[in-house]
Amino acid sequence: MPTDCVRCGSRNPEVARYCRRCGLALPVAGQDATPGHAPHPYSLAPPAGFQPVEGARGLHYAWTGPGGAAPMLGTEGFELRVFNGGYSLAAVALRVTGRNAAGAVALSVEREIAELPRGSTARMGIASWEVGEPVRALSLALVSAAYGDAEE
Ligand SMILES: [Zn+2]
Repeated sequence: MPTDCVRCGSRNPEVARYCRRCGLALPVAGQDATPGHAPHPYSLAPPAGFQPVEGARGLHYAWTGPGGAAPMLGTEGFELRVFNGGYSLAAVALRVTGRNAAGAVALSVEREIAELPRGSTARMGIASWEVGEPVRALSLALVSAAYGDAEE
């Protein structure tokens, strides 16, 4: 069976490992080609201190308190940075979950990044009014994404 590329739609021979038109890694048996899940053959290393986004390949995040300080100790707003070291993505929907000292969910919001090219870092703010109680631990999970423009 020839393989249709999920990003550009090109038909590729069954034995192809990468799309001959756009270079996307084609699905191997048991491997997910969903945008944000397909591993880039040359993933870029994330900046120091960035952690992996759950359910995503090549996406990493970091969070800081106001003014770039260490993550907050109270309910003040904070900033999230998301680095994409894999395929260029668009319409990246992320679920941001914060937990309080007891491990209960203190924050659960969704954010969407319109364009997240390979090698770029997106910044987004979480406002203080969105944070219910002091957040001690934060996690980011990929909800959905689409492939962005083919990298140059
Ligand atoms: Zn393609």
